[in-house]
Amino acid sequence: MSWSGSSVSFEKEVAIVHAVLMEEMTWPEIRDAMDAGATTVIIPVGAVEQHGPHLALGTDALMGEIDAVELARRLGNALVAPVIRPGISPHHLSFSGTLSLRKETLVMVLEDYVASYIRHGFRKMLFFCSHGGNYDAVGETVERMRKAYPDCYFYPEPDLLELLGTMNGVGSCDGIGPEAVGAHAGDSEASQMLAYFPELVRMERAKAGFLAPFDSSAKKRLFEGGTRSLSEIGVIGDPREATAERGKRYVAATVKLLEKTIRDCDAAAEREKA
Ligand SMILES: [Zn+2]
Repeated sequence: MSWSGSSVSFEKEVAIVHAVLMEEMTWPEIRDAMDAGATTVIIPVGAVEQHGPHLALGTDALMGEIDAVELARRLGNALVAPVIRPGISPHHLSFSGTLSLRKETLVMVLEDYVASYIRHGFRKMLFFCSHGGNYDAVGETVERMRKAYPDCYFYPEPDLLELLGTMNGVGSCDGIGPEAVGAHAGDSEASQMLAYFPELVRMERAKAGFLAPFDSSAKKRLFEGGTRSLSEIGVIGDPREATAERGKRYVAATVKLLEKTIRDCDAAAEREKA
């Protein structure tokens, strides 16, 4: 079932989805959009992994699509590819239901996405990781695709630390510290899910998880010992104060940062041409 029919509770978002999300468009609509200049494609790369006792496994895939749709709408010259739902999540595998791809599997899927879209005439691509574990695979793909298709433009990956910093900025406006905003299933993700997919949030089960600074030693523990070595419930952050209203602001801040990255790249490319 299409999520736009059931899960999105805001009429506005449904209308936006139909305008840019290729899975919900017909081929003549896509052809006409491309003829009108929409030759950029945004490919959201998500994850299907545990998000604590309060958020559904699809959090990264679902929110990646929301971000991509909002971004495409703001850019005005982009369409959104079907989300690649599973990602690279070995550190969450000790929790029920988590799905993890091998890096080479994800790279091959990304390559096939690119080949298909280039055949149709798309010329610029952004892989948008809504899950940090995908960055390596996407970075490798971007390098390979730049060599394979020198006439096309592949945007660099948005800076993960800058994205996390942006989330922390939104939290701090409301007195939510960076440890609570969290790197996984904390205030940021819980608020965003409350805003767009409230039926997939169990706030009555929300508990604080790992609350020390998410520094390099915490990251090392996460990737070497798995998420459980930081938190028995699989949470890095504190989702208990999450609100839908702040969730909208987290998304707006993310999209604004992505839009700036894209516009800066476009301006630099124009300067190079001149
Ligand atoms: Zn997540």
